[in-house]
Amino acid sequence: MSGRRITVVVDKTRCMGSGHCLYAEPAVFDQDDHDGIVILLDEHPPEELLANVRHAVHTCPAQAIAVTVEDAEDGLDAP
Ligand code: SF4
Repeated sequence: MSGRRITVVVDKTRCMGSGHCLYAEPAVFDQDDHDGIVILLDEHPPEELLANVRHAVHTCPAQAIAVTVEDAEDGLDAP
């Protein structure tokens, strides 16, 4: 099997509701209608969205988003 596993994590306690992440990739990030806090729509987005997710990481003013990319072929995290 090929492909990389992308994992996105958001820290809602840091989020200040700026909306940068939603602008960067609306398929992965949304905002709560009431308080504007980030909602993670897709914890494991497809590879084609990785550039946009990384853009969200870099533009988030609260540094509330992290992304990791694991090479599925390495099996480094296999139990
Ligand atoms: S860009 Fe950061 S601070 Fe702004 S809504 Fe997204 S997670 Fe929250």
